[in-house]
Amino acid sequence: MKTTDQWNFIATWKMSLEGVRRASRVLGEGQSLERAVVEAVKTVEDEVAYCSVGYGGLPNRNGEVELDAAYMDGDTLKAGGVMAVRDIKNPVEVACRLSKYERNCFLAGEGAMTFARRHRFALRNMLTPEAAERFKTAKIEKDLLERQEAYDGHDTVCVIGRDAGGSMACGVSTSGLFLKHPGRVGDSPIIGSGFYADSGVGAAAATGVGEDIMRGCLSYAVVGRMACGCPVQEACENVLADHTAKLRRIGRSCGSMSVIAMDREGRVGAATNLELFPFAVGNMAGECHTVAAKQTDGRIEIFEPDEEEWKKYEVD
Ligand code: ASP
Repeated sequence: MKTTDQWNFIATWKMSLEGVRRASRVLGEGQSLERAVVEAVKTVEDEVAYCSVGYGGLPNRNGEVELDAAYMDGDTLKAGGVMAVRDIKNPVEVACRLSKYERNCFLAGEGAMTFARRHRFALRNMLTPEAAERFKTAKIEKDLLERQEAYDGHDTVCVIGRDAGGSMACGVSTSGLFLKHPGRVGDSPIIGSGFYADSGVGAAAATGVGEDIMRGCLSYAVVGRMACGCPVQEACENVLADHTAKLRRIGRSCGSMSVIAMDREGRVGAATNLELFPFAVGNMAGECHTVAAKQTDGRIEIFEPDEEEWKKYEVD
């Protein structure tokens, strides 16, 4: 796969591949880009095996699964999001509906859940027996509030899409950090931090430790660089490198952070401070691949891992 080729979709993590396949089919059938992006995210939300998104997501420290999701239309810059919601089967659907509004388009907690119920979105108990079991055996330490890291290997599903007419959109969904404080909101549903789409320029999305990502508004920063003429891959690398350097300079620790992006021509880019950050790309012809970015000595390489390398990336 070449990042310089034109793609219709790019999405975070290996878990998004099935979603990208679904999005490619949906767009190929002539349905809208919005439907394709939402379907891609829903595919991951509905998969019980993924521990940090939707059904099967790991709970907060009260043992409740609280979810964040957002959607943005790159033509209109309309965006919507839900934060810290419980018992909603597909939070991205609710976020997408909220993006139709001019005001009140980002809703948190009870307000978001009331909106979802009133508009008859599907409800479901999102806590699986497996997630409840992991909660029971997890050690909840006193200082966890300060030490939390992103759950290794899964994290947020972020899908960026572009149709043949050049319209762009982005959808994201996550259960956030395992054992997070109830009510904690990460970067994912925060416009400019977890996602941003502007069809005239490009789109970007982020995954990793939300608090660190928010400190640099990483998604908007990547789109901002592209707006100044920076190629998409360089924009991802420069933004992440500058932000990481700044956090270190001011003496902060720096959690895992990865970004994906697509420019308005469909070329894609990715950067990470991890050893291996898998992501998926797909086009309407049905070509869908999982590839990866890796960081070695400050340099980013995009490559297709072989079996041995995939083994290093353990998912459950
Ligand atoms: N960014 C998400 C959060 O902080 C989690 C992740 O992507 O790993 O909630």
